[in-house]
Amino acid sequence: MPARTGRQYIEGLRAQEREVWLGGERVRDVTTHPGLAGGVKAIASLYDLQHDPKLKKVMTCKSPTSGEPVGRSFANPKTRDELEARTQMMLNWARTTNGMMGRSPDFMNVTFAAWGAAADFFGEKRPEFGDNMRRYVEHLRENDVCLTHALINLQRSRNVSGMFNLQEGTALEVKKETSAGVVVHGARILATLGPLSDEIAVYSPRLARHSDDHSPFAMSFSIDCGTPGLKFLCRDTFDLGRSHFDAPLASRFEEMDCIVFFDNVLVPWERVFLLYDVDRLNAVPHVTHSTAHSAHQGAAKNLAKCEFVLGIALLMSEALGNGHLPHTEERIGELMLYTELMRSCLRAAEADAELDRWGVMAPAILPSESTRNLMMTCYPRMVEILQLLGSSSFLLTPSEKDFAGPLRPQIEQYLATDKMSAAERVKLFRLAWDVAGSAFGSRQELYERFFASDPLTRARAMAAVYPKGPVMERVLDFLGKSGDA
Ligand SMILES: Cc1cc2nc3c(=O)[nH]c(=O)nc-3n(C[C@H](O)[C@H](O)[C@H](O)COP(=O)(O)OP(=O)(O)OC[C@H]3O[C@@H](n4cnc5c(N)ncnc54)[C@H](O)[C@@H]3O)c2cc1C
Repeated sequence: MPARTGRQYIEGLRAQEREVWLGGERVRDVTTHPGLAGGVKAIASLYDLQHDPKLKKVMTCKSPTSGEPVGRSFANPKTRDELEARTQMMLNWARTTNGMMGRSPDFMNVTFAAWGAAADFFGEKRPEFGDNMRRYVEHLRENDVCLTHALINLQRSRNVSGMFNLQEGTALEVKKETSAGVVVHGARILATLGPLSDEIAVYSPRLARHSDDHSPFAMSFSIDCGTPGLKFLCRDTFDLGRSHFDAPLASRFEEMDCIVFFDNVLVPWERVFLLYDVDRLNAVPHVTHSTAHSAHQGAAKNLAKCEFVLGIALLMSEALGNGHLPHTEERIGELMLYTELMRSCLRAAEADAELDRWGVMAPAILPSESTRNLMMTCYPRMVEILQLLGSSSFLLTPSEKDFAGPLRPQIEQYLATDKMSAAERVKLFRLAWDVAGSAFGSRQELYERFFASDPLTRARAMAAVYPKGPVMERVLDFLGKSGDA
């Protein structure tokens, strides 16, 4: 099946029964559950973009095997132009959700596309794993599969070293091998988009440190979300069934996060990509450059999100008539700075992209990684700026029903400003609240702080790839030239 439509995506979710729990109840159909259906619809709208006559050329490209149009994020760019075309595709998706669905399918698509090109690396010690990867990536592309992923093991306590404290009975581990595959047992977090996906990929995070060379905790595989023994436990939904007027973002973009329990789950051999091999598992993101590709996808999402927050802030200051006040200008200027830094890093990653040993045009690692680390601190600050700009206006936000009730004349009289009617103002500030105050907005902030790992791991990830020599050399040169002692 080439690039899917939204309807085909929804039918795919319905066709595969999975064990999803939300609020103490088993969800029978994620596509109709009131707390999940909005998110399903949003992802479906992304798939529909692939068939928009005006966008089809950007959103899809020709499959190397079937010749049919397939999602562009499955195709590895070979030139800078192709890399830029992929960015446009990713931006179209990110702008559709205003960056509020960080786990749109392109995140995993670009990762696996890079792994497919580097399949030999997976097969260096065990050639069958390389073949598995090649076949799997073709399966993803040709069936337009939507993937979630869960990388983090739960821990009962933390090591000061930052190494995962992996314990039997908590972390996910291989229990046994059978002729059909490996049996895994344990838990993983945090599968964003879990109930809304077709399949789940499990591997280890960048810079994960395991204590042994040969570890039962070291694995990379992917299985259907409906695989027996797999259970998704959802957090509370933030889509509380409010209208688009009342909860403009939560009613549309609930992507859900889950703990995943693996209850003696059989992973078929053909879906195993690495096993027990700690060093190789840790090396994957850098050797295959998948970390640069996924960071570059994240940068597109970040740019869409920054643009959206900036737009909201500008409209807020217009509504309140405070845009000319110096401290408002300063705060808006800060939002502009973050937005342009994101855009610049995205472009720099393309401009300095290089063809890697797998024949893929890989975005430059430093600007790509910088966007991840920057977003962790700048997004919470952007939210703070919205709060500072909006003050009590966030709470002068009657609901859609209030507008239809007896207080409408008072609402319209007293909440109007020089530039906006009461309804326009309230709609805008309800949107701003969904970014800067609601449960949905708070989860977005937490997401940006942690989705790409904790701050310590992120700092170490940057330090691991940063070329430190040249800057130290310059200082040493300068010291050497000073002459004294
Ligand atoms: C909204 C959201 C969505 C996510 N989506 C996904 C997803 O789709 N897939 C996925 O795999 N993961 C996902 N993650 C998980 C994310 O990767 C982890 O949250 C992140 O790696 C941090 O791990 P943790 O939550 O276990 O934090 P913890 O390890 O509990 O850390 C808590 C705090 O303690 C600090 N800390 C912990 N250990 C040390 C130490 N040794 N030294 C110093 N400080 C330490 C951390 O820096 C952090 O500030 C998501 C997270 C969030 C919040």
